[in-house]
Amino acid sequence: MKRIPLAAGNWKLNKNIAETSALLEEMLQGLDAIDGVEKLVCPPFTSLETAARILRGSSISVGAQNIFWEESGAYTGEISPGMIKELCTYVIIGHSERRTYFHETDDSVNRRVKAALGAGLKPIVCVGETLEQNEAGKTDKVVRAQVMKGLDGLQVEKLKDLVIAYEPVWAIGTGKAATPEGANAVIKDSIRGALSEVLNQDLADAVRVLYGGSIKPGNAASFFCMPDIDGGLVGGASLKASDFVAIAEAALE
Ligand code: PEP
Repeated sequence: MKRIPLAAGNWKLNKNIAETSALLEEMLQGLDAIDGVEKLVCPPFTSLETAARILRGSSISVGAQNIFWEESGAYTGEISPGMIKELCTYVIIGHSERRTYFHETDDSVNRRVKAALGAGLKPIVCVGETLEQNEAGKTDKVVRAQVMKGLDGLQVEKLKDLVIAYEPVWAIGTGKAATPEGANAVIKDSIRGALSEVLNQDLADAVRVLYGGSIKPGNAASFFCMPDIDGGLVGGASLKASDFVAIAEAALE
């Protein structure tokens, strides 16, 4: 089963409109030249229109960092699936920072995933254990539960567009990446294992699963050469054009 690798940049709360233009102009040529890897940038909401305009006609997609599940109404501060779809192809859902600081749960992740798929967006669903859970030997249980609950009740035919990102919380922004073998084992056993239970084996093999957590140009290839890792969700290193281009290039090999 051939899965096209995906190099996705999560810009988090960084880059205003002018900075977004400057960073994209800097990485555009290098990223666009990479064939055989899907490239994606996820700037903050206020920069999505700028990114969509600069990247129109290129091979680089735009994604949002969050989504609300209702289409309209009295939900001050929220952005609807239809609004995001006007500018984006992908949307990150359930990032650990959203779960930790904004109290998102597996249930709200599930609503967001359904809304994203319903609007024709490709969700990147983030899962991963905390350091405490890891040290207590609970990684498999935690990650499986996040996958099963996050994807509960989804229409199987829509799931070809689903992407999952395995991001151990202790590896995000810490400079302390997981080992490629360790990440691959969680993805193979816990994530694809859970997918084969919720969906079926063919879909479990077809869904792309990324690794995220302190990916840098120097370690990217060691993750991307693992059989169950289909690219990366990159935070800090996606804010430097040369680093993100080098990481996307590593996904090709
Ligand atoms: C992330 O924000 O999803 C992430 C993996 O961050 P970093 O690459 O900085 O660890």
